[in-house]
Amino acid sequence: MTKRLSEKTLHRLTRLLSAPMIRVDCGRLCAPANDGLPQCCDPRITVPILYADEFAWHSRTGSQWRRYKPKKKADRKWVSELDPYYVPAVCRSPKQCDRSRRALVCRMFPFEPYVDRRGRLRGLVYHDVKTERCPLIGRSQRLFYAEYVRRSLVFWSEVFRKVPTEHELYARESRKRRRRCRRKGRKLRLITPGRCSDRPRTWRVSGGGVLLASTRR
Ligand code: SF4
Ligand code: SF4
Repeated sequence: MTKRLSEKTLHRLTRLLSAPMIRVDCGRLCAPANDGLPQCCDPRITVPILYADEFAWHSRTGSQWRRYKPKKKADRKWVSELDPYYVPAVCRSPKQCDRSRRALVCRMFPFEPYVDRRGRLRGLVYHDVKTERCPLIGRSQRLFYAEYVRRSLVFWSEVFRKVPTEHELYARESRKRRRRCRRKGRKLRLITPGRCSDRPRTWRVSGGGVLLASTRR
């Protein structure tokens, strides 16, 4: 398979997504409702998808990630239908995250890029999966660092240049999103650096880690 993301590029992409997204470790917001495990790190809920070059890079340099082996028929079908450039993988230590070894997908969730009718990257949008339980989804943009969103957009421009299937995928997803919005009479909510903040609101978290509210600092 052709290599699309060199080690140097992967380092750069990882650095781009290393800026904090919000003021607290968001795992503290959702873990209490899921037996102490952040919801997007729980393989019973989510199977992260890595780029093949990224998976190979992680496999060469550590043992944080192993290839996901589906047991159920429906999961086997899902895996068999994935483009071979994507590797569904399971993180070995979801209870003690080695943050330096997080995959790119761990750094971008719960956002994905939005591509307009002319194929231009216009901003980020929340994942729109009905079963998603991430408490960040749908929150005010003022809670997110503008710098994180800025860097994410640079990240996606580079990924689209290097991995055209990613552009095709998100152009398709954005088209479906526009249709959904039209059908439901909803306005598309675009997340852009200008609508986020350089000094975002902070979160108030109880001793047990339960999200109570967000307040302006
Ligand atoms: S991104 Fe959402 S689901 Fe994942 S750890 Fe943060 S709050 Fe939890
Ligand atoms: S690497 Fe960290 S953020 Fe990613 S799935 Fe594992 S525990 Fe969660």
